[in-house]
Amino acid sequence: MKAAVANTFGSILKIEDVQKPTIEPHQILVKIHACGVCHTDLHACHGDWPVKPTLPLIPGHEGVGEIVELGSAVTHLNLGDRVGIPWLYSACGHCEYCLAGQESLCMSQQNAGYSVAGGYAEYCAAHADYVIKVPEGLDYVDAAPLFCAGVTTYKALKVSDAKPGQWVAVFGVGGLGHLAVQYAVAMGLRVVAVDTGDAKRELATSLGAEYFFDFMTDNVVEDIKAATGGVHGSVCTAVSKAGFRQSYDVVRRGGKCVLVGLPPEDMPLPIFDTVLNGVSVVGSIVGTRKDLEECLEFAARGKVKAIITEKKLDDINDIFRDMEKGEITGRIVMSI
Ligand code: NAD
Ligand code: ZN
Ligand code: ZN
Repeated sequence: MKAAVANTFGSILKIEDVQKPTIEPHQILVKIHACGVCHTDLHACHGDWPVKPTLPLIPGHEGVGEIVELGSAVTHLNLGDRVGIPWLYSACGHCEYCLAGQESLCMSQQNAGYSVAGGYAEYCAAHADYVIKVPEGLDYVDAAPLFCAGVTTYKALKVSDAKPGQWVAVFGVGGLGHLAVQYAVAMGLRVVAVDTGDAKRELATSLGAEYFFDFMTDNVVEDIKAATGGVHGSVCTAVSKAGFRQSYDVVRRGGKCVLVGLPPEDMPLPIFDTVLNGVSVVGSIVGTRKDLEECLEFAARGKVKAIITEKKLDDINDIFRDMEKGEITGRIVMSI
């Protein structure tokens, strides 16, 4: 089968003919129709993080398609079912986190397109218990970005604890951030967005952000404080240390700063201000299967729609280059 493969960190992906996966009894084989390109895939192929992926790697954790083979132990899915294979490829199902509905914290999890082969391929094997069905009325291309960008931002907004009518700041209006703006608006939150350039400004405001500030030209922290009095929650999807600090600085007393983006850097925090202001700083990693079902439902009801440019698997190196430059509007989804 055809797949995009990373053989060494930092070099271009090669389109290769590789062995089609065989499945185990608890698995299914999915013929991938579409796969979104997440900035995490770029981090993976660069080996950016302390825990490295297994090479050679087939990236991709927004792969959606139809089931073409069922393992002998799989009883709750059917051939032809439309499913997506998220970052949380599998978890153990019996540790304290899995039992508590925090399966994305499971220490024994596998991750699609990182520890196991992902969706940048014609076929992908998946754990039957961890794929989620694409709701009726949502096509493959529209569904793909929700399997990571959608669920991650939907969950992060829940983690922010911001209530309807309150302010959230969304840092980074990229693949994740443009969905964060939409989920926030759908949840009744008021949104201020931060990124750079006219394209991101138009995107954020057209999606319902009441304010947009440009991190290259505006005094982001002062401007957000003046506009909102300090936000109740912030969600930082920016791949930038400076953006993380600003997302902390704009939170009002008692508010929450939710860290989502994953630049490979540290974030120094002022102890005095954090204590006196009672500010929470919390990480949020993807979402559970339940979060994913809920986030897909928003899209199936027309409340959220990813802004998508369709490309082909063969375009992956150009897509990565544009992503590095911050030149993508919304999400790129590759047809496979
Ligand atoms: P993306 O490249 O589509 O978007 C990033 C955006 O951040 C771009 O629009 C860029 O212009 C903007 N940006 C850069 N510097 C900024 C700054 N200082 N202030 C505000 N905006 C700034 O990337 P993406 O696919 O949305 O992913 C974003 C990050 O989130 C990546 O690091 C990715 O690995 C991470 N991620 C985390 C999770 C999770 O579960 N926590 C899930 C998916 C992705
Ligand atoms: Zn992702
Ligand atoms: Zn577990």
